[in-house]
Amino acid sequence: MTLTSALTDKLDEPHLVAAGGFINGKWNTVSSRGKVFRVTNPATGEVLAQIPDLSTHATRDAIDAAYAAQPAWAALSAKERADLMKKLHRLMVEKADDLATILTLEMGKPFNEARGEILYGASFIEWFAEEARRIYGDTIPGHTANTRISVIKQPVGVVGVITPWNFPNAMLTRKLAPALAAGCTVVAKPAAETPLSALAIARLMEWAGFPPGVFNIVPGTDAAAIGEELCANPKVRKISFTGSTNVGRILMRQCADGIKRMSMELGGNAPFIVFNDADLDAAVDGAIASKFRNAGQTCVCANRVYVQAGIHDAFVARLKEKMEGLRVGNGMEEGIDIGPLITDKAVAKVEDLLADARGQGASVQMGGTPMGEATFYPPTLLTGATKTMRLAREEIFGPVAPVFKFETEAEVIELANATEFGLAAYFYARDISKVTRVAEALQYGIVGINTGLISTEVAPFGGVKQSGFGREGSKYGIEDYLDIKYLCLAV
Ligand code: NAP
Repeated sequence: MTLTSALTDKLDEPHLVAAGGFINGKWNTVSSRGKVFRVTNPATGEVLAQIPDLSTHATRDAIDAAYAAQPAWAALSAKERADLMKKLHRLMVEKADDLATILTLEMGKPFNEARGEILYGASFIEWFAEEARRIYGDTIPGHTANTRISVIKQPVGVVGVITPWNFPNAMLTRKLAPALAAGCTVVAKPAAETPLSALAIARLMEWAGFPPGVFNIVPGTDAAAIGEELCANPKVRKISFTGSTNVGRILMRQCADGIKRMSMELGGNAPFIVFNDADLDAAVDGAIASKFRNAGQTCVCANRVYVQAGIHDAFVARLKEKMEGLRVGNGMEEGIDIGPLITDKAVAKVEDLLADARGQGASVQMGGTPMGEATFYPPTLLTGATKTMRLAREEIFGPVAPVFKFETEAEVIELANATEFGLAAYFYARDISKVTRVAEALQYGIVGINTGLISTEVAPFGGVKQSGFGREGSKYGIEDYLDIKYLCLAV
């Protein structure tokens, strides 16, 4: 286990990261299999850390620890749990710069964006600390004169959490916070590319004084083995997953035998629709925000830009102008808007989708070829995109904006809904009747109307169709971590 100076030299508090798993309140710095894996900076290729490569054995230990810790954690008063969570929130905000540095170094997104993610991630800890004290039940008029019926809510139990690399902090806190507030304990497996942000959260929880076993992290490259143990182990009562729809399907199959509860935040294929009556400047700003945040590597980013014929040329010209101002580079440098893609494989996928689109007649207005250095990819604008192109069906996960021209409202609703995904959709229009019709017709869990930014802890985030189920954030988010029990009392 090592942290290199490429990481520690950049931190005010180098002890914020420990390069090991966190199990039952202890740092597990050696893998019983003697294996380690490297975490690298995608912008420079530098090695940041070597982490013990944990697998089934450690996962089982972590589950045992979480299982043993859960009753006492749930038995604390809601205020006691909330107070610890508020302490964690304060620490996250205090250490936001270091946490953002860790995030940028391991994942690549620009530092300001990373800092935004840290504060967004922390906001879930604060929100659910508040919600812990509002886990209300019900009383129901009895069905006979001598019965009294009440409903209480209790924690689900041990929760297995699996998170992706694109938001290594916030995707974890969105699950950890409601779980802790509800009285659940957690075993988390972060993505192998970005375990350091998760380990830093564990460190802050240690400093905040959370009891051992309440939160455990198993970093490792053997995702299938760790996932299998989490899904098969009867001590785990729920799996909360954010990642691709394909892996979501695997986990659902694995959880079938144990009938585990699940929350699934899966892939997206967001349409971004601009009607003729849209505010052009607002629509372009929204498209930039939605498409290019995190270099286009977000589940809610605009994947298909539909523009009505009457505004098409003006929109494309204005979008191109704005895109020309975006700077690509190392996210630790000032003024960078777009960092590297996560891996070479991600670049290859973007290239494949572009080759397919070009082959089917799409026209490249700017960008379209890798920058030849690390995994940097330039902002790319395509026009003449059509529904037969692969990028109309698959997540691009890169800074590529394909523009599709459409004529009528009915046509664009049909195109927008023609996908198995249903996470986020966006549209820009001013006619209030149309706004109402379109908002209701889009088959998505989240609809941004005249805005490209929809993520906040106060609203329910989640999808329909094959984008998954369950909601994160808001008053609804905690329900995913609670069981309902009905008490029938004869008097
Ligand atoms: P991924 O390949 O599904 O990986 C996500 C997590 O699952 C990682 O921790 C990964 O571990 C793990 N994993 C992979 N195979 C597994 C298996 N067989 N069993 C158990 N765990 C397994 O997805 P990704 O490429 O990292 O992330 C991008 C995807 O996440 C996109 O589809 C994006 O839309 C989606 N996403 C959705 C949301 C949402 O809120 N709906 C938010 C963010 C991202 P390793 O890293 O070790 O392989």
